[in-house]
Amino acid sequence: MTMLSSPFVRELPGAQTPRRGYWIRFGESGIAPGEDGILQPPGEWPAHAMALGMWHDLPVAMVHEPGDADWPPAREWLARLPGPQADLLATALQVDAWARDHRFCGRCGSPMTRLAHEFAMQCEACGHRSYPRISPCIITLVTHGQDLLLARNSRFPARRYSTLAGFIEPGESAENAVRREVYEEVGIEIGRVRFFRSQSWPFPHSLMLGFFAEAASRRIRIDGVEIADAAWFTPRHLPELPPRHSISRQLIETHLSAVSPR
Ligand SMILES: [Zn+2]
Repeated sequence: MTMLSSPFVRELPGAQTPRRGYWIRFGESGIAPGEDGILQPPGEWPAHAMALGMWHDLPVAMVHEPGDADWPPAREWLARLPGPQADLLATALQVDAWARDHRFCGRCGSPMTRLAHEFAMQCEACGHRSYPRISPCIITLVTHGQDLLLARNSRFPARRYSTLAGFIEPGESAENAVRREVYEEVGIEIGRVRFFRSQSWPFPHSLMLGFFAEAASRRIRIDGVEIADAAWFTPRHLPELPPRHSISRQLIETHLSAVSPR
């Protein structure tokens, strides 16, 4: 019995189960539209299907094929799919990248075998087992009173500004990563840090940990490499913001509704 209301259950059907159920068709540049979002109706899976879990009590798998050029790319689907399907797609993207990148043992170099009952690759030669890698990142909205510090990454569209983000280093706490990243990128020292929420970001395997960070000072000194520009914005004069489904935008919107209730 489960208390979870999501149709997606993280339980692999195992090797014995007949290889049929829902499936998702991955092409070279996009994912096929299905009957419902990206889900193809239940049926026999092609031989190379990779099981991902259960969907509405039936097994669900992903399948690679050449595909059509007009299938929407994964990023587009993630932006428009409802929560549980976005979780399923994020899982598919990460497990797929992991299986592709762990075909050989990182310890002894022998070919790895995929286990049926969990996401794990097993080396028969030396016994090493490898699990999907998840890379925690911090993403933080720096505020000073009502004002927001937003930055423009050199890879962003021309007018878009966003929150600051970076990978957590080995041995580092998330809170210290917030302080370090903010100081490195914009030269600002941080007072109080408060956790917001997290979001999977499967490009290729990030877990974004969202934080609010209160600036102890306002003077910005950008690194000029990763960050092309950074500035303080008031809630009334904002630049172009990141897409609505991103945790970055959710941090910004949450701050805006807290300082200027509508
Ligand atoms: Zn090995």
